[in-house]
Amino acid sequence: MQPRIVIVGGGFAGINAAHALAQAPVDILIIDRKNHHTFQPLLYQVATGTLSPADIAQPIRSMFANSPNVSVIMDEVLDFDLVKQEVKLKNEQPIAYDYLLVASGSTHSYFGHDDWAEHAPGLKTIEDAIEIRRRIFMAFENAEREMHDKGAHRSVNFIVIGGGPTGIELAGAIADTCHLYLKNYFRKIDPKLSRIILIEGLPSILPVYPKELIDDATKQLKQIGVEIMCSTKVTGITSGVVQTEGAGAIEAAVILWAAGVKGSFLGAKLGLATDRRGCVNVDQFLNPIQADSDGAHLKNIFVIGDLAHFEQNGKLVPGVAQTAIQMGQHVAKVILADINHTARSGFSYFDKGDLSTIGRLKAVANVKWPFNAKLSGAYAWFIWAVIHIFFLIGLRNRFAVFTQWMWSFMTRRRCVQLITGDETQPIDRSVEFTPEKRPENTGVK
Ligand SMILES: Cc1cc2nc3c(=O)[nH]c(=O)nc-3n(C[C@H](O)[C@H](O)[C@H](O)COP(=O)(O)OP(=O)(O)OC[C@H]3O[C@@H](n4cnc5c(N)ncnc54)[C@H](O)[C@@H]3O)c2cc1C
Repeated sequence: MQPRIVIVGGGFAGINAAHALAQAPVDILIIDRKNHHTFQPLLYQVATGTLSPADIAQPIRSMFANSPNVSVIMDEVLDFDLVKQEVKLKNEQPIAYDYLLVASGSTHSYFGHDDWAEHAPGLKTIEDAIEIRRRIFMAFENAEREMHDKGAHRSVNFIVIGGGPTGIELAGAIADTCHLYLKNYFRKIDPKLSRIILIEGLPSILPVYPKELIDDATKQLKQIGVEIMCSTKVTGITSGVVQTEGAGAIEAAVILWAAGVKGSFLGAKLGLATDRRGCVNVDQFLNPIQADSDGAHLKNIFVIGDLAHFEQNGKLVPGVAQTAIQMGQHVAKVILADINHTARSGFSYFDKGDLSTIGRLKAVANVKWPFNAKLSGAYAWFIWAVIHIFFLIGLRNRFAVFTQWMWSFMTRRRCVQLITGDETQPIDRSVEFTPEKRPENTGVK
């Protein structure tokens, strides 16, 4: 009988492992609680109305339509029995495995303040993106309604907490939305007066980048009207208000969280050693470092992608798509080595560099492969666009994203500014407000 490989999670790590094993003499079962793979790097474009959900997601089943040894089950994994070698599901009987790949990724971390989540959603899934899109465009609709009713409206401010790549993408895209893409849409409000505030607890944004690119990114964000508050610790979040140490309370129509991630809860369910984020410590073969309670060395269990804590040259490899893709492909090689009775090779992360987009023709790129370069502005943005189209899964998605971007670029219009989900709600008229003006000195171009 062929060994059965159970892959938990159809993200970058799981999908790449399955692809690399699809021609091998193994039976593969992918289990995911969603029926689709999500290209998370472009989620912010769904959240800000540039792309449709279907442009950046693909049904997992369709990706393996021509791989008869790959099956897919849509269910949530709740736990593992490492002794019986079984995966426990929410809705079905336990499933046995010969090899287990845990690739369930990461989720938002509110650093012990889970009550902040309802006021400041994070961005991880298509559902998150649709909810954020609803909040952003609803803020403008509510302000226009208030103007009809009262002749004044509360400020349509946006606060993004977290100055890493996701926070910067969100803040930049919201700034572009306010300043470029809503022109002539409203009769009574002016979206250009919105403030977009990026709050970061560390002394600078994008801490993994070299200083010159941090300075470039800061300059580009300011050019499009993003106010950056570094070294600012958030101490509380309630409906429409962010409490900070130093800057006091700041009001906002929409608050978004891009400040922290932690490993999926399945990391803890393995019952093995994790780091403080709940990510499982893995060795060079991507097996958990710690043996199970019976002392077995768990050579048939792999933890890959965001959920893995893997150190190279004493440094933690970053939780990015490249890492997950490379880990998925490497585990396939390790399993094939076992099947062919050859020696396993150790994983080595190949860092191709970092890219962050800021807005229309604005980005920073710290390229390390195939050449070394530090780029910013339009060149960096162009590289970012080409790479994202290239890595998107599916020809249709690539075509759809390319045409949407072209349309948006040429017309300065975004086509997916839909508000879905919740119905319109009455504005809370008991709350008094004073309309806020955007500071004069932001220098928006
Ligand atoms: C908004 C955003 C922007 C990003 N931008 C970039 C970028 O520009 N460049 C970059 O390199 N990286 C970026 N990343 C990071 C990158 O997307 C992740 O590093 C990568 O997705 C990790 O892959 P993974 O396979 O480990 O996990 P994921 O891709 O998160 O996949 C995990 C899968 O597991 C499934 N799952 C989880 N729990 C269960 C369960 N209990 N049962 C069943 N299924 C489960 C999920 O549904 C999901 O399909 C970004 C991430 C986000 C959120």
